[in-house]
Amino acid sequence: MDNKFTPDLIAPCGMNCGVCKAYLAYSRGVPYKKGEVSHCSGCLVRNKNCAFIKRDCPKKVGKQLRFCHECPEMPCKQLAKIDALYSSRYDMSMVENQKMIKEKGMDAFLASQAEKYRCPSCGDVVSVHDGKCYACGYQGEAPIKKVGRARWVPNKK
Ligand SMILES: [Zn+2]
Repeated sequence: MDNKFTPDLIAPCGMNCGVCKAYLAYSRGVPYKKGEVSHCSGCLVRNKNCAFIKRDCPKKVGKQLRFCHECPEMPCKQLAKIDALYSSRYDMSMVENQKMIKEKGMDAFLASQAEKYRCPSCGDVVSVHDGKCYACGYQGEAPIKKVGRARWVPNKK
């Protein structure tokens, strides 16, 4: 079995950094380009506290807790917010990811992620953010951007 993802790519919120376009660009050697291609080695790997939740998390998720689901308050307001955003924009839920990790274990979760995000062209990974494979350049269907966040150009009358 190929291991596209490792447990240290799974952020405390349930995000799989392995399908993030900044991680894929970084790890697949796509050069950094200001305003277009960003680079990131992953939330846990960088040993940063959670980028979304850190300020308001009294439990210091990522430091004192490995996952938000270890907290009785999950999902807190912060997590619910980012989860709602990802659910609507990228068809991915951090909370659902964490539930699966908790119920079925990390290995099963990583295997299902590898299945879900496998590049149909080369077998590597397509990004949750833009449907693109940063290894072979395959461009899958990009997620539908909802009105309000999309770059919507009104028709001039
Ligand atoms: Zn590919």
